Amino acid sequence: MVPLHAAEPAPAAKPNIVIIFIDDMGYGDIGPFGATAQKTPNLDRMALGGMKLTSFYAAPVCSVSRAQLLTGCYGPRISVPGVYGPGSKQGLNPAEHTIAERMKENGYATMCIGKWHVGDQPEFLPTRQGFDHYFGIPYSNDMQKRSAESGKPVVPLLRDDKVEELLDDEAQSLIVERYTNEALDFLRGAGDKPFFLYMAHTAVHTPIRPGAAFAGKSANGRFGDWVEEVDWSTGRIIDTLRELKLDSRTLVIFTSDNGPWLIKGTDGGSAGPLRGGKGSTWEGGVREPTIALWPGTIAPGSVCDAVAGTIDLLPTAVALAGGTLPDGPVIDGRDISPLLLGKTTQSPRGTHYYFRAYDLEAVRQGPWKLAVVPQNETMGRGVLPDASGTAPRLYNLDEEVGERTNVAAAHPEIVTKLAALAAKMEAEIGGKEPAARRPAGEVAKPTTLYPVGGKGRAGKESGKTPPEK
Ligand code: MG
Repeated sequence: MVPLHAAEPAPAAKPNIVIIFIDDMGYGDIGPFGATAQKTPNLDRMALGGMKLTSFYAAPVCSVSRAQLLTGCYGPRISVPGVYGPGSKQGLNPAEHTIAERMKENGYATMCIGKWHVGDQPEFLPTRQGFDHYFGIPYSNDMQKRSAESGKPVVPLLRDDKVEELLDDEAQSLIVERYTNEALDFLRGAGDKPFFLYMAHTAVHTPIRPGAAFAGKSANGRFGDWVEEVDWSTGRIIDTLRELKLDSRTLVIFTSDNGPWLIKGTDGGSAGPLRGGKGSTWEGGVREPTIALWPGTIAPGSVCDAVAGTIDLLPTAVALAGGTLPDGPVIDGRDISPLLLGKTTQSPRGTHYYFRAYDLEAVRQGPWKLAVVPQNETMGRGVLPDASGTAPRLYNLDEEVGERTNVAAAHPEIVTKLAALAAKMEAEIGGKEPAARRPAGEVAKPTTLYPVGGKGRAGKESGKTPPEK
């Protein structure tokens, strides 16, 4: 063995990476982001020990959000505009390079637990897209179809690419616990190899099914109960990493896929001070309560307000692993590890684009957000009078995060600059004739993962590709 030169620092170990991705949890649903109705002591502890990211963006709906996280691309670039229902012929193109594939290239063990939702055909499942193993419900928990065998509305629970069980509504109340146990088993069995765990909870998407230990315990109904169970699950993961003495070698990121589903009333969450919810490009639809924990590396109690998002997780994870990405295919995300490590407060991306399906609706740079089309309030709710009309609207998010006061008339030069950026991105990947969009995956003869019979009970999101516009 050749000794290292004395002046040469030892190579940094590849950190483990855990991404905890909640479904339909709003910006105001956890303690560190202002929630008081439900208690989230583990997330409070995580924020005290790590970094809150207060301008961290996902996408307006589930499938798009997951595709963005997995590929580092805006949904339109990879032809993922909306939500996939069971048996959809389209899915995330296997030709795309997922974060799991990139981590495998860098020597990582990879595991996906929970909601997949970028296609349920064999070609599109996690084990074909870079994950060594998979355990979870592969789409939304409200996408039940009637089992031909039992006659009950159910969703499938997969182990790798095989249906292990069919879950009725009642069985969904065990899902957080089962996912958590699976995650802890994975962590305990990791050995010396670095790992990447993508933990995408089924919670807190409707139907709301908290476990027995949490049902009726919060001060915010069953929605609050399920948030508290997710908080417990996150605490179990963090505690287990510490027990295994892996905490200082593991980056844990907690975030959500889209804003709260406001029309669900008490079964929907809260966007806190933000306007709008799931399905919209108002901040409440896409800005997520995000925490990063990495003891000894990320400064405890720190806050980052720079623009970042799920599209940045792939390049960030690759950079932390010591890897490099090829020049092509193009991705939209950037390495945000300098933000996480406190080396800068400037976003490496600077500009964030807000798409709804294939339409670019807004663009943000620094505090300025320009909306270039009318924006609906949330899925199932339309456009309010102050957001209608064709004139672009400008908001200063530093001064008013709730997006009520249009200041376009006072800042024509900013409107012109942001409108030009929006037009350029729209021409590249938005609208009907984009210059640089890549195709979706597609199969000729899609089928459901289990035999269905009779008239199934489908959820609001089911079967639409793209979804409601
Ligand atoms: Mg969602």
